[in-house]
Amino acid sequence: MPEPKTLQEAIVYFADPDRAFEFAKRLRWPDGTVVCPRCSTAKNSFIKTRKLWFCYTCKKQFTIKVKTIMEDSPITLDKWMTAFWLLANAKNGISSHELGRSLGVTQTTAWFMLQRIREVMEGRKFGAKNKIGGEGNEVEADETFVGGRVKNMHRTKRTKYMLDSRGPNFNKTIVHGILDRDLRQVRARVVPNVTRETLQDQILKSVKFGSTIYTDAAVAYESGLQRTFVHDVVDKTQAYVRGRVHVNGMENFWSLMKRTLKGTYVAVEPFHLQRYVNEQVFRFNNRATKDNPLNDSDRFVFLMSQVLGHRLTYSDLTGKSESPHHAPTGTRQTPEPF
Ligand SMILES: [Zn+2]
Repeated sequence: MPEPKTLQEAIVYFADPDRAFEFAKRLRWPDGTVVCPRCSTAKNSFIKTRKLWFCYTCKKQFTIKVKTIMEDSPITLDKWMTAFWLLANAKNGISSHELGRSLGVTQTTAWFMLQRIREVMEGRKFGAKNKIGGEGNEVEADETFVGGRVKNMHRTKRTKYMLDSRGPNFNKTIVHGILDRDLRQVRARVVPNVTRETLQDQILKSVKFGSTIYTDAAVAYESGLQRTFVHDVVDKTQAYVRGRVHVNGMENFWSLMKRTLKGTYVAVEPFHLQRYVNEQVFRFNNRATKDNPLNDSDRFVFLMSQVLGHRLTYSDLTGKSESPHHAPTGTRQTPEPF
């Protein structure tokens, strides 16, 4: 059977547990040498009936899921792989309700699977922590406010919110983003505030020396940047673009992100927002272009192959310490429950 190219083919392909297992094994150990994830030695024997290995060095068994985000999950490999395929390729994201229905698992289980995959999407191997820009590259930096929509609030909360002197954005979560126009790559982080220190710190962390940076005229960007970068400012309130000095690319990214958040995920709590930002950045940075004709299968293989070494505990995921085998108790049920 040829390797899958479409979602339908992927579902059929991975429905065979042996095939899913062999596929994952090739991604995890591409040269064919199975190495123990605990002690890194290659002396082991394969127990075929149980699809696991016994390591002669550390005298322990290991499965293909050990030391990955799938470890401790009772969900079978074929379901995981279908979930990876879906999230890597769904243009507008996929809700936990939808994934739960597709895989035949509960919505809570589907939600945990999606959160773990989004965590992988931020991984170092995707370059999310590598700097962009560089000598001669044009970079846009911009921030946006997410959430806190008045419309969905209870009346008393809404009144309080409208009267709050801190202005219309105090209740929102801030995301800062950087776009390299030449590389067509984005980096984006949830930030605690829009002070000069915070925003410039994001730029210094993500942008290489010598880049040309375009921002809006936010006070936070004034001075400081010139020492490291060439800095050009466009004042968004003037509603025009001085030649190449604009942040339209970043604004397009924000509108894509907000459409997905609003349309598919309905409500995302601030604590979880970074993972949804990761998902959007992954999709943007790995979309097909003329120079880089990626298809669905490529994106899936790319994401799946990075799974190794990414583990997410229950407390990382929720900020609470509880067993990963139980549904989150006492957490508020929102349209996209957290
Ligand atoms: Zn070992």
